[in-house]
Amino acid sequence: MKKHNLNENFICRIWENETFYSDLKTINGESIEILDIGKRNFDAGPDFLNSRIKIGNQLYQGAVEIHKSVKDWYSHKHDADGKYNEVILHVVFYKDENYDDESDKPVSKNSRPIPTLILSEFISRPIKEIWNEIILNPSESFLLPCYPKIKDIPQIIINDFLKKLSKDRILMKTERLNERLLKKSGSNPSRIDWEQLLFEFICEALGYSKNKNQFLKMAESADIVKLKKMKTDILHTDSALFGISGFLDEQIHKNEYVINLKSIWNEQRDYLKPELMVKSEWNFFRLRPANFPTLRIAYASAVLNEILNNELFRKIIIMFEDSISVINDLKLLFKNLKISDFWNSHYNFNKSSAKKINAIGMERIGDIISNVILPLVLLYSRIYNKENIRERVMYLFRKEKIISRGNEIVTKMKEQTGKSINTISEEQALIQLHNFYCVESLCSECEIGKIIFEKKNIREPMKIIIY
Ligand code: SF4
Repeated sequence: MKKHNLNENFICRIWENETFYSDLKTINGESIEILDIGKRNFDAGPDFLNSRIKIGNQLYQGAVEIHKSVKDWYSHKHDADGKYNEVILHVVFYKDENYDDESDKPVSKNSRPIPTLILSEFISRPIKEIWNEIILNPSESFLLPCYPKIKDIPQIIINDFLKKLSKDRILMKTERLNERLLKKSGSNPSRIDWEQLLFEFICEALGYSKNKNQFLKMAESADIVKLKKMKTDILHTDSALFGISGFLDEQIHKNEYVINLKSIWNEQRDYLKPELMVKSEWNFFRLRPANFPTLRIAYASAVLNEILNNELFRKIIIMFEDSISVINDLKLLFKNLKISDFWNSHYNFNKSSAKKINAIGMERIGDIISNVILPLVLLYSRIYNKENIRERVMYLFRKEKIISRGNEIVTKMKEQTGKSINTISEEQALIQLHNFYCVESLCSECEIGKIIFEKKNIREPMKIIIY
């Protein structure tokens, strides 16, 4: 297994979220059942206090200590520190290569052997996915190593650096789209290739952090070339997407909508021959009903229907050529896409609402415009040498006011940097700074870090970002 350089804060975040792992066992093969994860401790002493954990048949109450590897127990000298006498479980991410079961086994100062868990052996989702989810959801204790000194840095230095980062970000997104387009259709993409690209990346944005990869997988399986050869309406696109995503397999509810979807799916499945998913791939845990993937799939279906029957891609390009108010027109376009009636009153197939449900909010539309539409139209302008469109995209990116109030990262970065954010490009720049400099501990390459940490060893461990 490839070893990632995860810091202890990060491992604590993984440990806190029981959906990231399953079927835990100690190094000695005893089962571990978490009854209460306990309370995170940010002071001296073990990382979690008041945990209740059943190991084998024995129930323990006490502390949990988190480390990168087993040997950290001794290198951090916890064997000689009474504060760690209460540790009931030692959770480490990796097992050391030359781990010795006898000499490396952790023992407390009062000579009690402490059971150890190698967490990486029980992770139930790809580590990249877990990483993304954690960095997209910073905790209350989120702290940048340069805080609060960053607030003393001259604004002109911060602004110039953020300008560079915003440009890096839109070009990076454009490049990612370009790679997908080249992979799919070579250097001469057809209209349908552009439509498929648009659909895939809108879907990815609809998945947000918890279902991003699932949405992308579903969209890649919805072959627009084949769908265009069929007569489709919203019921057909619902059927295709809920069928591909695995939700129709388990529907036993006999309302008219579900019966129709299943019957259409029975006809579509053999023709589309998509890569099928299973319902358990989708994450619902800790999501508000308004963010349930089922409701988002219903919206994705409205997007797909608009692509198939109303030339959504062409409409968007025409807006960048002709509209005097592109962003407002885009907002209206995405706001008014029509989902099936069933989803006006349902969050999933079993959960209904007395109130009318809004399938998509302005936040998500803002996200789609900033992260998908602007980079995609920029790519289009580059491939077809449409200088007028390119200038328009870059102007909107620099000048247009942010549409959403920003995600958790933006909120935290605004607090920590003291920077107020007005435009799409400023918002994107803060995300770029967080994702590619702060998270990677690249303070030495950051214009802010170069000043703040000028005389110090910037790789010292305390400079790690706290999540
Ligand atoms: S990368 Fe820059 S902004 Fe981020 S923590 Fe380091 S110095 Fe601060």
